Amino acid sequence: MAIATIKTERLKSLKRRHPWVFSGAVARIKGAAQPGETVDILSEQGEFLGRGAYSPASQITLRVWSFDEQEEIGPAFFRNRLERAWELRRSLRLEPGLTACRLVNAESDGLPGVVIDRYGETLVCQFSSAGAEWWRETIVEQLEELTRPKTIYERSDLEVRSKESLAPRCGLLYGVEPPELVEIGEGGCRYLVDVRRGHKTGFYLDQRHNRQLAARFAHGAEVLNVFSYSGGFTVQALKGGANLVVQIDASAAALELARRNILLNGFDPSAVIDLCGDAFQLLRRFRDEGRRFDLIILDPPKFAESRHQLPGACRGYKDINLLAFRLLRPGGTLFTFSCSGMLEPDLFQKIVADAALDADRQAAIVTRLFQGEDHPVGLNFPEGSYLKGLICRVF
Ligand code: SAH
Repeated sequence: MAIATIKTERLKSLKRRHPWVFSGAVARIKGAAQPGETVDILSEQGEFLGRGAYSPASQITLRVWSFDEQEEIGPAFFRNRLERAWELRRSLRLEPGLTACRLVNAESDGLPGVVIDRYGETLVCQFSSAGAEWWRETIVEQLEELTRPKTIYERSDLEVRSKESLAPRCGLLYGVEPPELVEIGEGGCRYLVDVRRGHKTGFYLDQRHNRQLAARFAHGAEVLNVFSYSGGFTVQALKGGANLVVQIDASAAALELARRNILLNGFDPSAVIDLCGDAFQLLRRFRDEGRRFDLIILDPPKFAESRHQLPGACRGYKDINLLAFRLLRPGGTLFTFSCSGMLEPDLFQKIVADAALDADRQAAIVTRLFQGEDHPVGLNFPEGSYLKGLICRVF
């Protein structure tokens, strides 16, 4: 096995068991290692620090699989990590009737670069790092033995794979082809999920709780669901007794699927208006028309992919939140989110506060929101905490 030696002044994060080693921290690699191959990670003094995957193309040169010198990286290791992740989800006793959740949340479940989502009997995998790619077949084999699903499908078509010199890849990994749309149960509602072409692995599982909370604020309300995707919040708002939901998304396919989800749950489709287009423009149009709503949900895509995009992202969040505050009736409620991991919760809250101020609205935070508990955050991996949200009441 090749050996990676870490510079003495760069040991701190590994000692804290952070699983990433950046290229600048690596003093040298001794021996030949292919991209994705496992290497031993040592200090200049030869002390064992961990065992991880080598990725020469990435800024993150090493991703640690294990900090335990006795632990070999092979089928038994992956079996153990999958069992741990599976057991955690079982112990959570998620709501009855729920048939979809995240089974493996990458670094936070001790499996850097590996995401596995469950949609009923269909499991969907994403392998986003060279190490995950190297062990792909082993992981799929172990996953199949452990969970005995009908289908394991791959959605390794993430942008980040290019940073690891990996081409996108999608397709069947095990079992039978998934249906065109997989039906799941969540929060007492039914949803159709497009695991082949949908965003991420098909559904924004991380918003499960928050969607259900929205139902509580929707009774008799006129709701504006901005960035609605396949209607996750729309369906919950209708369940909560909304009078009207206006949903905005740039994707016509997403809105079409949202329509099907509304019908699937037996709700009156005439209570929902779809607007396909750019949310920034449509919100401005509503402002100019003097439209008002009782409940607004803002769940935008990730505005900041990297640190240098953060200032622009902050302006984007400020803009949509300012417009939303203007559109809310007194006594109305705003659900506002950011899934940019780079944006700290405190700064997000400040942006929302500035937006309320500029809109000349008084508001208070009722609740702070996060990703669901099936998206755990490794204590050694704060980057795993990315989704934050606020419920604000406007006076
Ligand atoms: N709330 C959703 C998830 C939203 S994901 C749920 O619970 O399932 C973000 C959505 O924003 C995507 O569907 C994407 O198509 C849409 N989107 C991205 N940029 C947009 C823009 N400028 N205007 C409108 N929609 C946009």
